[in-house]
Amino acid sequence: MENSNDMITLTIGKQKNIALIAHDGKKEEMLEWCDWNKAELRRHFLCGTGTTARLITERTGLPVRGYNSGPLGGDQQIGAKIVEGLIDFVIFFSDPLCAQPHDPDVKALLRIAIVYDIPIATNRASADFIITSKLMEDEYQHQVQNFHSHIQQRVEGMK
Ligand code: PGA
Repeated sequence: MENSNDMITLTIGKQKNIALIAHDGKKEEMLEWCDWNKAELRRHFLCGTGTTARLITERTGLPVRGYNSGPLGGDQQIGAKIVEGLIDFVIFFSDPLCAQPHDPDVKALLRIAIVYDIPIATNRASADFIITSKLMEDEYQHQVQNFHSHIQQRVEGMK
């Protein structure tokens, strides 16, 4: 059962930490999307999986901090940054028609975004709606699990 200690309020700032990821079949779409939204994206902090990040910088000139390539653990690195509160939303153009060797990592990233109430766009239309939201201009407060009380309750329950 939840009580008021079960959740904490976190704030997504006006300037957002945005993670960009695209599977190979969706990279061109991601590059077009970033180019089209360059002016807005420039106002935020960008990061992404290795290949996607490099290609975006080459195409658009936007600075994008690159993590490892997705199949080599890049999605997991981005998931870990979400857990640390260092990523505010994710644009992830995944390819539904192509099997991915790192499918478990992709699922894990989607799951952790849900756990931490992180907006995550998995196709272009969703990304268009997010990037044009008036919340892009504002701070946004949201509720996430209070991990201190979560651990405390679990420890108590196992005594
Ligand atoms: P990449 O990884 O940007 O290194 O291609 C993306 C992915 O497939 O998760």
